[in-house]
Parts: sequence; structure tokens; C-alpha cells
Amino acid sequence: MQYVTRFAPSPTGFLHAGNYRTAVFAYLFARHTNGTFVLRIEDTDKTRSEKKYEDNIIESLVWLGLEYDSMHRQSEWVEDHERVLRDFVSRDSAYVSKEKNRDGEDKEIIRFRNPNKEITFTDIVRGDITVDTTDLGDFVIGKSFTEPVFHLANVVDDSLQGVTHVIRGEDHISNTPRQMLIYQALGAHLPKYVHLPLVLAPDRSKLSKRKGARALLEYRDLGYLPEAILNYLSMLGWHPGTDEELFSKEQLIERFDLSQVQKSGAIYDETKLHWFNKEHLHLIPDETFKEEVKKHISAGFGEALEKSGRFDQVLPVIRERIGIFHELEEMEREGELGYFVFHPEYKKEGLLWHKNPDEAQTKKHLEKTAEYLSAVPENNWTYNTIKEGIWQYAEKEGRGDVLWPLRFALTGREKSPDPFEVAGILGKDEVISRIQTAISKLP
Ligand code: GLU
Repeated sequence: MQYVTRFAPSPTGFLHAGNYRTAVFAYLFARHTNGTFVLRIEDTDKTRSEKKYEDNIIESLVWLGLEYDSMHRQSEWVEDHERVLRDFVSRDSAYVSKEKNRDGEDKEIIRFRNPNKEITFTDIVRGDITVDTTDLGDFVIGKSFTEPVFHLANVVDDSLQGVTHVIRGEDHISNTPRQMLIYQALGAHLPKYVHLPLVLAPDRSKLSKRKGARALLEYRDLGYLPEAILNYLSMLGWHPGTDEELFSKEQLIERFDLSQVQKSGAIYDETKLHWFNKEHLHLIPDETFKEEVKKHISAGFGEALEKSGRFDQVLPVIRERIGIFHELEEMEREGELGYFVFHPEYKKEGLLWHKNPDEAQTKKHLEKTAEYLSAVPENNWTYNTIKEGIWQYAEKEGRGDVLWPLRFALTGREKSPDPFEVAGILGKDEVISRIQTAISKLP
């Protein structure tokens, strides 16, 4: 039998990243079992549903890579809901009840005739759950024949769309008994229920956009990788049974299994998400990485980097230093990359190491450094040969005394990657010339 799962969001607001965890689990389960993943927009609440939210949900799923096999709008199935409501009334599974609404007006609503019995279902995550439905009373299933309420529409759609596994948040557990009664009245085959643990804010309160999680596409705009978000969301309530954490989408599809879904709540932690993103940055191919970098630096700087001929060599430095692409904007603004292209501007004091700020000594070290580096052949100008070229001298004279002025001469900055790496990227001529400039600043 082919399994069918669905993601059934209500388009009444921008969903935050934690909300998409449910979609991720339903998707992975469907793909893992070669089943079908359905998107159903539950838009029966006409006053609160908006097209822009629906569009946002679709854009988010596409960006995350959760392609769905079919899509339905609940509002397009109202005829089915009406047919079921009338059928229920004709069979006395439901009845029309004249009641006053909040404004004191008489209204005819449709109530389900509760058989008042004990009902047990086996939740795949939580095991057997038994509920006495008596407490639920004759609950409302339609505000009129053409206005089904959530429980009715949700069940009719699930059954007509052939949903075999209802995978949703634990907050829906209390809805399940009502929905099962409706299923039984329909005479339809019950789906399997999978109630996922809640996703909580770091302080274990309810996760919200104010507390902990952003709207999904905000992460896109910050330059997060969809595969990193997918990986992170997949771990919110599921574990692979080992210590492994990093997975590609294909690996997740292969490994995902409902039996490894946990009962306890999962904490949404942006720091951890950032870590996942940093790890995934190392997995993407150079070409793709470069294209993304270009999107997050100014066009002018991108061109200058390209023209310098050093762009490809700077990429590993960038990869090492960023966690998300957005950080590049600040790096550029703060001048953390500019020296790979432009001669650094600085005052001579910067060249002096704070533990030994002696101008004459500093000048001597720079002269010696230039001398040793001149001896490194240009066609073998690498991190290792550069380091070997000056290491003995630096060890003898003091690493800080020798390497601080060199690094500052190359970058004009207090913080930067180590000087051998920078020198390797800049090339021999440029390095010697920057050291000469530094020497000429000192008396
Ligand atoms: N529209 C409901 C929600 O967004 C769907 C619940 C379900 O998955 O059955 O919570």
C-alpha cells in the first residue's frame, strides 16, 4: 500500500521556522516510504485566511526543498463538506440545532450526535491513548451546511484525499477523538496518527516569532542554506539512533523513520541552527559558494576581487570565517576583506607589537622578513614555504615581535587570518611591496 501524508497549514499568518518541522517530518516519511506528500491549505476560516500567507507557505516549502505531489485548498472542497453534513443529518449522526449566536440572533448550526463512548487509538509516537468522548458533548461540526468547522473539513479532506498517516503537532492530540468519531460516522478507514513533540523556545515556553524563531523566509534572506535548515528541523524531535547530526536531504530521506521520533519536546535554538549552517557551508561546491558570496558583497568589491585574481584563493578564508552569508556584509563594511584587494591604510604605530613597541627593532624585523621572503622562490610560494622561510628567525627573535609587524604590514588590521595564509594569497611581489611600504613608515 502506498502511504499518503499531508501538511495542512492554515494560511492565517506567516508560519515560523518551527512550524515547518511538521512539514519536514511528513515529507521525509512520504519520501522514505515512496509515498505521497500532499499540501492542503486549510482556508475555511474566511475572515482570517489570506492569499499572501498561502503564497508564503508555498514559497517556503519550495525554498526548503519539500516538493509536494499535489495541492488542495480546503475551500474548494466545500461541496463535499456539505454533502457529508447533509448525509450525517439524514442518518441522524448529526442534527440541526437552533441556537442564539453571540449577537443574540437565532441561528441553525449542526451538531454531531456524540455516541458517548470510550475510544482508543494508537499513536505511533505516544502509544495507546484512550478517551471517554462523553465529556465532549454534541460538538459543532458546521456553522451551516456550507460552513463546516475545522474537525469536519479536516476529516472529510483526509479521507477523500486518501491520507494514511496524519502527522501533526502534539497540540492536536485533543482533537483526535472528535475526528475519530467523525471518521467512524463516515464509515471510512481510520488513518494512523503521529503526534510530534512540541517545538519549544529556549526557555521551554511556546515558540513564537517574538521568541526564538523567525519566519522561514527570513532565514533565506539572511543567507542561510535551505539544506542546513532542513537538516536542523529534521533533528527537532527525531534522531538517527547514532551521534551523527549532519545529513544531506538524500541521507535524511534514507534514514528517517517514525520509530525514532521522540516524545519529549524539542528546543528551537538559533545558535545550533547557525552551527548547522556553518557545517553545511563546508559541503557546498566552490562554484555555488562563490555565486552566493557574490550576492552578499557589493558588486564593486566583487569586481575588484575578481580583477585582483585572488577571488578563488580568498574563498577558503571566507568559508572558514562565516557561519551565514549575511555576515559577509558586515565583514566587507568592517574592512575585513578589503586588504586582499587594496593596499591597507594605517598609521605606523599599528606596526608596533604591544609587548615590544620599539620602532628600530620593528624596522629591523621587517627588513629581515623581507630578506628571508625574497629567498622563497616565486613558483613555490605557499603557506608552508613562506612559514619555513621566516619561522626560524621568528622563533629566535620572538614570534610576536616578528609576526605582528608582518601581519599588520599585509593587512593594516589588528585581527586577520594568520600572516602566512594572507601572504600566500597576496603573492610574493605584493607581499614584498607591502613590507617595503611598512619599512618606509618607520624612521
Ligand atoms: N490546519 C491545522 C493546523 O494548521 C491542521 C491540523 C492537522 O494537521 O490536522 O494546525
